[in-house]
Amino acid sequence: MLFEQAPVSSSQQVHESLFESGFQWVNQRCSDQGLSEGIRYLQQVQKLAIDPGMINVLENLRDRQVICTWIGENIPVVNARLNQCLQACQDCFYPQERRSAQIFAVPLAQSFQIDGLCNLQTRPYSILIDVGRVPSSDWMAIVAHEYAHAQVGNPGHDITYAQVLAHLCLGLGLEAIDWEHVTESRLRHWPPYTPKTDPLAFWRGME
Ligand SMILES: [Zn+2]
Repeated sequence: MLFEQAPVSSSQQVHESLFESGFQWVNQRCSDQGLSEGIRYLQQVQKLAIDPGMINVLENLRDRQVICTWIGENIPVVNARLNQCLQACQDCFYPQERRSAQIFAVPLAQSFQIDGLCNLQTRPYSILIDVGRVPSSDWMAIVAHEYAHAQVGNPGHDITYAQVLAHLCLGLGLEAIDWEHVTESRLRHWPPYTPKTDPLAFWRGME
């Protein structure tokens, strides 16, 4: 779906300043409820990031309005799918072993070069996934990777992490860990998938 910028109407609203990073987009007049909801969503999710700079959509002068509007109008459906993935991960463990986690889709700053993260400093743990960087057929793979961090309670990719991820891969039908060649750097990108070349296309509603 392609969402164009909404035309300005008489029922304009005034948006106050956005992020605390000093970015100036104050008193932006807009008519689109989706836009304001998208901005509010990004502000909330930014609080769950390990580093606020990981979410910098509003500094994207060219695309911010289109992206925020698309998020405001579509993010519940996207997050519902991610929550199904998260639930499937949790179902691989006995109830008393499961970790409490929340999950949100959000575009992540390209400079960090990550497709997802698990913030272990929040309660519940917060998993953020840039679904624009991951083919939809591989959303389960990246959610499993991040949930494994939550399950272990550790951001590293050690043997304990590998064992938990292997359990998830088995339970979810994901590519099994190759124990003969397992390394920290391979685990960092397991289960494997091919990242998309234009991460923001999804968030601009071009897919
Ligand atoms: Zn990892």
